[in-house]
Amino acid sequence: MQKLIVGNLKMNMENLSQRDSYCKEFIEEFSTLKTQNHAVVCPPMIYLEYFYKTLKKTNVAIGAQDCFWELYGSYTGNTSPKSIKSIGAQFVIIGHSERRSYNHETNEDIVKKVAMALRVDLMPIVCVGYMTGGEEMDNIKSQVEAITQNFTLEELEGIIFAYEPVWAIGSGKTPTTDEIHTMVMYIRSVIASSHGKECAENVGILYGGSVVAENVTELCTNAYADGVLVGGASLSPRKFAQIIRMLN
Ligand code: PEP
Repeated sequence: MQKLIVGNLKMNMENLSQRDSYCKEFIEEFSTLKTQNHAVVCPPMIYLEYFYKTLKKTNVAIGAQDCFWELYGSYTGNTSPKSIKSIGAQFVIIGHSERRSYNHETNEDIVKKVAMALRVDLMPIVCVGYMTGGEEMDNIKSQVEAITQNFTLEELEGIIFAYEPVWAIGSGKTPTTDEIHTMVMYIRSVIASSHGKECAENVGILYGGSVVAENVTELCTNAYADGVLVGGASLSPRKFAQIIRMLN
């Protein structure tokens, strides 16, 4: 089965020369990379169009790191999913734990964003993970249920989940393969309870948190995740490409 490998560049490359050297190295790495899997890179919003135009010659798709829940209007500073789509992006990360925490995004906000992303045919990658308070399973359950309760079977099959334990993000620490497998199965069971087993099996579930080339096979393949969401390691095109090669 094909895997999805998503690089989240976060709020990095804070000037044009850093952006340009990243894209130059990216093209060098990816123009010769052969893979049966799918790769996506999510740059800062301000560089979305540049990345789309510049990386066109690779097979890597472009995604945004967030979007707003309306298509246009008086929403200063927000970005319409329609603008993101019109640039050529195909994916949008929604509800990353950093947005849930620094921007106080709630499950209700996330549901509204997912709905708008689906409306313009952007594929949402919804991040779920243990926040604070309660048990991990309860936290994940309420985040996944916010989605399952608001979307139909057809819509759900166009949504990807990313299981990201918050403590594993950027820490160099990872859960064991068994722990990831348990959570991937648990997310599938929450989906199955409202939308049936077949739907639950068709929904893509990624793992994210300190993924590098050295651990990706163990963390992703052996845990039956459908791919990975990569933060830190995607800031180096060479390391990002190595991760993709490991999954070939
Ligand atoms: C992330 O922020 O989604 C992430 C997975 O980061 P890192 O790979 O650096 O842990």
